[in-house]
Amino acid sequence: MADVKCPGQDTRYWKKGDIFDVRCPKCGKEVEFFKDDVRRRCKCGRTIVNPKLDLACAEWCQHAEKCVDGLPAELKAKKAEEKRKRK
Ligand SMILES: [Zn+2]
Repeated sequence: MADVKCPGQDTRYWKKGDIFDVRCPKCGKEVEFFKDDVRRRCKCGRTIVNPKLDLACAEWCQHAEKCVDGLPAELKAKKAEEKRKRK
């Protein structure tokens, strides 16, 4: 059972709207995002950052860095920031 994912990262538990399209600012094509995608690359080569980034459980879960592949530096910084605020 090594590959069990925490429920927050399992697409089966996702709601409508957790997958959405973001229009590429460069070419205008729609790029499909999953809500926990950090960024995706459009076919035109432009990298688009997820405007709705919501890693839900990754925000607080201590295993998030292992569970969510390549947790972005921005989120790590945000987590550190929130930790500081709580103190
Ligand atoms: Zn594009």
